[in-house]
Amino acid sequence: MAGSKFAYVKNFELPDPLLPGTFMVLRVDGHAFHRLSEEHNFTKPNDERALQLMDHAARDVMNEFKDIVLAFGESDEFSFLFRKSTTLYNRRQAKILTTVTSIFTSSYVYNWPKYLPNTPLKYPPSFDGRIVLYPSAKDVRNYFSWRQADTHINNLYNTVFWALVLQGGETTTQAHATLRGTVSSTKHEMMFSRFGINYTDISPRYRKGSILVRMEIPPEPEADVEPASGKISEVIESGADPTSKPKTAKKNVKIRTFIELLHCDLIGDEFWEARPHLLS
Ligand code: ATP
Ligand code: ATP
Ligand code: MG
Ligand code: MG
Ligand code: MG
Ligand code: MG
Ligand code: MG
Repeated sequence: MAGSKFAYVKNFELPDPLLPGTFMVLRVDGHAFHRLSEEHNFTKPNDERALQLMDHAARDVMNEFKDIVLAFGESDEFSFLFRKSTTLYNRRQAKILTTVTSIFTSSYVYNWPKYLPNTPLKYPPSFDGRIVLYPSAKDVRNYFSWRQADTHINNLYNTVFWALVLQGGETTTQAHATLRGTVSSTKHEMMFSRFGINYTDISPRYRKGSILVRMEIPPEPEADVEPASGKISEVIESGADPTSKPKTAKKNVKIRTFIELLHCDLIGDEFWEARPHLLS
């Protein structure tokens, strides 16, 4: 098709493919959420409703894109891991990044009234996004360890900080000064001796962040059983590559999956060893 004399401008659009055979991690982060959280009176240090809203938006993204196998969220950010072999939008960077960031943002806004029913939005929240490619499973594990370690460091600091302000009567400037240069053990000690807070009693959601894992339900050998709940979705078509198997060997099997929410450790081996499909 020749198209109009104007169509040549399309040629100025350059391809932006993401390297094949690499792990894609997409992270969205709230734009100016320090202000957003203040303007909408988020509970400090952790507003549970706002975190649940983030989890909801991340789940909506995973329901839309079945090639996302894992997500990790803390504060105003969420990271999504795509399976290594994904060919989503032919791995076009802008298409993937903008669509995911847009779905996340619109879900956040759309579902806001469910989680903060008495707090009307004063202005439209937005998120930035980036995609980073990692060559190995080890790098992917270290990426998620980095985010979870960050969750811990921030939460420890914020918990003592807000105890000093809300219970200790310090100004925010004083509280920052009190904490300057303190190591982790000093913060634990200060929290316990001055405010009676035992850090390990704090909700694992705050200490560990939110982990959404796509779990596969082993296919039924015979009958096509209806999913038990609306949370279950159909994904990956295995055996779809006609060159890999003789035609009669295997039918296209729709593997059903569901998304599990966890607030556990992912820095150690246990999490990954129990879920080898995440890095395959
Ligand atoms: P940028 O646009 O550069 O990301 P930002 O203001 O969003 O700037 P971040 O480093 O992303 O800065 O930090 C997000 C901030 O949002 C946190 O420091 C915290 O003040 C606030 N925040 C996010 N989620 C919550 C929550 N659930 N409860 C309380 N405060 C929150
Ligand atoms: P993709 O996700 O690849 O963009 P798409 O379905 O959005 O797929 P587009 O090429 O962007 O495909 O086309 C958008 C389509 O949306 C139009 O072809 C038309 O069918 C529909 N559409 C958009 N705006 C309107 C409108 N105002 N009135 C009627 N139809 C509309
Ligand atoms: Mg930032
Ligand atoms: Mg932010
Ligand atoms: Mg942030
Ligand atoms: Mg269009
Ligand atoms: Mg379109």
